[in-house]
Amino acid sequence: MTLARIKTGDTVQVQGGREKGKTGTILGILMKKERALVEGLNKVKRHLRPRSQKEQGGVLEKEAPLSLALLMPYCTKCNRGVRVKVKRDKEGKKDRLCARCGQAIEVKKKK
Ligand SMILES: [Zn+2]
Repeated sequence: MTLARIKTGDTVQVQGGREKGKTGTILGILMKKERALVEGLNKVKRHLRPRSQKEQGGVLEKEAPLSLALLMPYCTKCNRGVRVKVKRDKEGKKDRLCARCGQAIEVKKKK
């Protein structure tokens, strides 16, 4: 894993582009494309054509993947996207810490 700095479930802040400054939760990471889906961000409208007479056409809003290069893990203490440093604890488990203030970057637990 080269990109352990960002994981699914992380809150991230977008550093550039159309969604600059916004935060959201990572829904999934597309490693090959180096992009990630972020909940509620970079939404695009898909126009659906009815495929049968029973089906209705319409507009579906869906998240489009954002480049990982634009995403920074969000530190709740610094109130901004930050660089992380990885530190091993006594048991050898990796902890991700904010490079600015040292607070652990928490991953939201799935309900
Ligand atoms: Zn911080």
